[in-house]
Amino acid sequence: MLWDTDQQPVLDYLVNQASVLFMVLDRHGIIRQVNRFGSLLLGPDTPGKPFQDILIDFHHAFLLDSAVSCSDTVHLLDFVTLSGNTQTYHCFFYSTTEQILVFGHLDVEELESLSSELLSVNQELNNLTRELNKKNRELARANEKILALSRTDHLTGLVNRGYFSERIEQMISLAVRKSHPLSLIITDIDQFKIINDTFGHDAGDRVLQGFAELMQTSTRAEDLVARFGGEEFIILLPCTETHEAHAYAERIRLALPEKDLLRNGHPVSASFGVSQLLPNEKSAGLIKRADTALYRAKTSGRNRTVIATGNDTQLSNWQ
Ligand code: GH3
Ligand code: MG
Ligand code: MG
Repeated sequence: MLWDTDQQPVLDYLVNQASVLFMVLDRHGIIRQVNRFGSLLLGPDTPGKPFQDILIDFHHAFLLDSAVSCSDTVHLLDFVTLSGNTQTYHCFFYSTTEQILVFGHLDVEELESLSSELLSVNQELNNLTRELNKKNRELARANEKILALSRTDHLTGLVNRGYFSERIEQMISLAVRKSHPLSLIITDIDQFKIINDTFGHDAGDRVLQGFAELMQTSTRAEDLVARFGGEEFIILLPCTETHEAHAYAERIRLALPEKDLLRNGHPVSASFGVSQLLPNEKSAGLIKRADTALYRAKTSGRNRTVIATGNDTQLSNWQ
């Protein structure tokens, strides 16, 4: 211990101070002891170093002599900190016969202005972060909207052919993996050209919307109803056998007249083709067979549902 024991409480306080730099130097200017704060600031290997080595300005080397002779003077000293920065401390020197005590503190005003600047920068950073988070959320919502729009048919609100083509591959793969049946319905409104020609294109649009709504509201959540093009729609029914898909198509077909989609009593009907996924069949084959069954429904009088056979891939398109 380099100091008198009756000063111990005061020195203990200084040693543990978290904002005051406290050092004990010997008469040769070698640092013998540094308080915890000093150790954190200047590095744990500071004891043993000459005092002048931890200062930026070498001219301070002569300082010790003058400090000792004039111990009530405050010196502004620049220290090299452990992190490589420079920090200016107000230093007091107190000389005894054996040692020199050095007390240093940061300039309070500078510290206050630094901390208030830090506070306002921090506040600004918080505001910017909040703003950024908000913008990111808006961007995510906008992206979701764009994605949903790119998958949607604008007239009917159903998913479009592009998205259907993506989903059918996933649904086939799932059905094969789980050994579940998968059925498909293609439907086309009968004599739709006549409806347009007779009642106008807007009335035709309303028929398409009403028909889409009827299909959408009568399917299960896991079914996929899409507008395939023009007045043609496609429905994919997971975990569904042919006879169930046929029953579903018939339910839609029979509900159509009741809906009175033209609101003038003029009948609107549709024809349906149904197929069920065969072993090793691809999406193109499944769609083609349902389309061929639809062709047969059209050519055999319209307003009916026809189930595809395994050979239906051979027939040409009815359109
Ligand atoms: P079929 O019973 O054989 O299916 O006869 P169709 O008249 O329904 O078939 P066709 O292919 O001759 O005519 C389909 C019509 O659907 C022609 C086209 O102008 C019309 N159409 C296609 N898309 C739209 C649409 O978005 N809105 C309206 N109003 N009409 C459309
Ligand atoms: Mg048609
Ligand atoms: Mg058509």
